Amino acid sequence: MLGAVVGDVVGSIYEFRGLEDKNFQPLVHPAAFFTDDTVLTVAVADALLHNRDVVEAFKDWGHRYPDSGWGGRFAKWLFSDETRPYGSYGNGAAMRVSPAAFLATSLDEARRLARKVTEVTHDHPEGLRGAEAAVTAIFLALQGERAHTIRAQIERDFEYALPPSPEVIRPSYVFNETCQGTVPEAIVCALEARDYEDAVREAVSLGGDADTLGAITGAIAEALYGLPDDIGRQVWKKLPREMRVIIEQLYAAKGAVLPVG
Ligand SMILES: [Mg+2]
Repeated sequence: MLGAVVGDVVGSIYEFRGLEDKNFQPLVHPAAFFTDDTVLTVAVADALLHNRDVVEAFKDWGHRYPDSGWGGRFAKWLFSDETRPYGSYGNGAAMRVSPAAFLATSLDEARRLARKVTEVTHDHPEGLRGAEAAVTAIFLALQGERAHTIRAQIERDFEYALPPSPEVIRPSYVFNETCQGTVPEAIVCALEARDYEDAVREAVSLGGDADTLGAITGAIAEALYGLPDDIGRQVWKKLPREMRVIIEQLYAAKGAVLPVG
């Protein structure tokens, strides 16, 4: 889950300026910051850990950080009295769901929790598919499944055509904020990487929605390869205390070590 936060922070300064080189330096730029992907990931963790109403948790956390780079339609929903879903298939569905994979004890439960936190806004079939696919990849990786097994299951269960590698995606990829234009690419960046850092570098430098690609890929890559402490620590310092508390609670609930050194 912290892997998603790190991916968001790494990508934050590249969201609106294309980046085609995965060797950008440094990985965690001093000016990098958390955005909506982090705020909503923390909100999902809060809702699931404390049995909070999901809409209430989104509105609560969203209002605490009003300048987090919200997508247009989500912002409209967030800052209104509306509590009903709005049929979204934006990639916001997939960037925030990692706590569902973290807290579940079975794949069925992971997917059920993913639907629960997604359908309150992103109730379009593509929104639900994106969230469930991301959660499935994370959950299987946490179970110790290998990349090729995860790839096969994602292709079978969700009928995404996963490109063979980031190199194949890169030349024709353009900025895209839909689930169907982000989730398959983010999954491939995670599955075909050497390690956590390599995965996030590939995702952030595809030239798309950098922070959200980073968040989706980062969550899967953390589950597959582990998040190195030195990277986790650099991002941890950038988070407000109230977010750290929720993240600590999430790792404690799973009995996992928080990768911040
Ligand atoms: Mg963002």
